[in-house]
Amino acid sequence: MAIERTLSMIKPDAVAAGNAGNILQHFEDNGLRIVACKKTQLSLAQAQAFYAVHAERPFYGELVEFMTEGPIFAQVLEGENAVAAHRAVMGATNPAEADEGTIRKLYAESIGRNACHGSDSLENAANEIAFFFSESELIG
Ligand code: ATP
Ligand code: MG
Repeated sequence: MAIERTLSMIKPDAVAAGNAGNILQHFEDNGLRIVACKKTQLSLAQAQAFYAVHAERPFYGELVEFMTEGPIFAQVLEGENAVAAHRAVMGATNPAEADEGTIRKLYAESIGRNACHGSDSLENAANEIAFFFSESELIG
């Protein structure tokens, strides 16, 4: 299996609820190493750009508003098949459909306010990592 890197975000709902530390621990407990990590708050322009792929979806405005309402954590996670492994650890987009023990089952409020984000392909992971981090911030 290939060692991959993926971009992970802890969304404003989970940060505000005080669950960022628990979620970071959850990644490490599941074999995902934290290569880089920062707490920041997205501007409107940044949130719009990050989720530009969803610009035509009916929930886009709600999503952008949510993602800018408070601080987020962005991190680069590394491990075997990290893109898929991270999405498995997060659980289904809708917490009502998420498996027991997943981050969204444990911490998400709803399909919109769902605690975390993970890249959905290796190509998007590379773009999303570059969105948040410079090469010199990827400590390894
Ligand atoms: P993410 O991209 O955040 O990791 P995902 O890949 O599981 O989540 P996407 O389909 O890419 O899900 O949707 C992006 C985000 O948009 C979701 O995580 C959620 O916050 C929001 N979203 C998706 N569907 C809905 C919906 N029906 N109503 C409200 N918000 C939604
Ligand atoms: Mg997605």
